[in-house]
Amino acid sequence: MQPSGGFHIGNYLGAVRDWVALQDQHRCFYCVVDLHALTQPYEPAAMRARVLDMAVELLACGIDPQKSTLFVQSQVPEHAELSWILSTVAPYGELSRMTQFKEKGERAEYVNCGLFTYPVLMAADILLYKATRVPVGEDQIQHLELTREIVRRWNGRYGEPALFAEPLPLHRSPLRIMGLDGKQKMSKSLGNYVAISDEPDAIRKKIGSAFTDELRLRKKDPGHPESCYVCGLEQYFMPSDKVAELQDGCRTARIGCVDSKRALAEAMITTLQPIAERKRELLAKPGLVEDILQAGADEARKIAKQTMAEVRERLGLLPLR
Ligand code: AMP
Repeated sequence: MQPSGGFHIGNYLGAVRDWVALQDQHRCFYCVVDLHALTQPYEPAAMRARVLDMAVELLACGIDPQKSTLFVQSQVPEHAELSWILSTVAPYGELSRMTQFKEKGERAEYVNCGLFTYPVLMAADILLYKATRVPVGEDQIQHLELTREIVRRWNGRYGEPALFAEPLPLHRSPLRIMGLDGKQKMSKSLGNYVAISDEPDAIRKKIGSAFTDELRLRKKDPGHPESCYVCGLEQYFMPSDKVAELQDGCRTARIGCVDSKRALAEAMITTLQPIAERKRELLAKPGLVEDILQAGADEARKIAKQTMAEVRERLGLLPLR
């Protein structure tokens, strides 16, 4: 996850919630990718806080350092080292066809090389731990496909027996949480989001101004919950019987949009409250999160060093002593 300064409920429902569940099924590595974040313009003085914020929120959401390895990418320097090595087998033509590169490149004032080789660093993030499954969102499928191509080329050149396996996406229900405008995907850059760390009053205000059913002009008109943004979110924050009751009330005009919004905002506050509580507890202990990240980096590095020793040997480079 990029250190983008906190999650919104789209990230939470579409990604983080699954990562928490995956901890009980797989050996997981979760990494705050600060090196990737350097490809965008940013304020160096704010970077540490962004990284720590992201780590605090991952922990507060339920990433458990007893079950998974949670660390910061730049604290395991082998990521950058392997990235360079993989770039010597990564196909230039395919890199230049990456949708995200083309989109970000069009928006950027100048296009740095890091933006271009971003998927190679992502391949290193995966292969350093010889990961076989990656829980990527739809937008990252193309990058994962490129990792698979890099593996094929690497194994073709330096393989036998193959050092790396082609990693597969870990299929999840493809959730796409829309923003408060109801028109575009919820995203930080569009400002159409509810952050998991928003205070209750901010949540009430944001949901209060969210888009509802365009066909329902007056409270006495019957509503259409299936095409209403607010009703669509209810399923993620309430038990199904409560959702059914609210949506029936909306359809039969017994309740108005304001009532639906109030119910959603309160349910959202209740869901997010334990996360906010855990966040407060983590922040109350100075140095705790830094220590967790250091322990995670130490654990990750043991594996990373082992992989790099094997990589050096295959490449014919001198070993590190
Ligand atoms: P981002 O920081 O935008 O790259 O998002 C990080 C993760 O959250 C990715 O796995 C995305 O697929 C997921 N995500 C971001 N926005 C949404 C959204 N609006 N709905 C569902 N999932 C999302």
